[in-house]
Amino acid sequence: MGGAPTIHVTVQRSDPNARSSFEVERTEPMMVLDALLAIQRSTEPALGFRYSCRVGMCGTCTVRLDGLPVLACQTPLDHSRRAIRLDPLGGLPVVRDLIVDMTPFFDEWARVKPYLVPASTSDEPASIPPNAPERKIIDPALDCIMCGACYAGCGIASVKRDFLGPAALNRAMVLIADRRDAERESRLRAVTGADGVWRCRYIHACTVVCPKQLDPAGAIRRLRRWRLEGIHDR
Ligand code: SF4
Repeated sequence: MGGAPTIHVTVQRSDPNARSSFEVERTEPMMVLDALLAIQRSTEPALGFRYSCRVGMCGTCTVRLDGLPVLACQTPLDHSRRAIRLDPLGGLPVVRDLIVDMTPFFDEWARVKPYLVPASTSDEPASIPPNAPERKIIDPALDCIMCGACYAGCGIASVKRDFLGPAALNRAMVLIADRRDAERESRLRAVTGADGVWRCRYIHACTVVCPKQLDPAGAIRRLRRWRLEGIHDR
């Protein structure tokens, strides 16, 4: 008869001499973040990881769980898992342990001018009516929390660095779909340049790993179609 059930957690440490292997007592329910906090509180106070809201809103706790980017606060560890491995997000400079520098991700985000530029002469209403056709395009793509999971999961954005990446392109698609924006055409030209949508190879990792169930690969496909056929609301 053993003691309380545990889960074995291996963490990639930036200091190769730091402890990286931990036996963590299970709680029910247990998220990846719970395991990290348990390690930090009971065994290894120096373990580095980032979190804030704990409700899947702030996008700061993204790590790789057995290779796949996840939000640590929203990813449960069910009883069938005896052991897990945690690594920092790929393709971003490591600050310490599981903490990465998100600057490359936000540099790409900033390059698409990720805010609405109101058309000064527009007499469109301030908000888009619920029954407007573009709602079907915009609403499912709106809830990006800038967690970087799609960027880190994309073999082109995170490795070659010559690609705007899935999150920035998804944001650009939302703004181009918005008829109140004064820069729709110039935005579309900007994201269909050499480092834009044509770089994508449709591996779809971005869509698979997005913790908010967004579809950046679908956004990229739509941007390609708009470039070839003109912007429309279908
Ligand atoms: Fe995260 Fe999804 Fe936004 Fe990418 S599109 S940054 S995975 S929320």
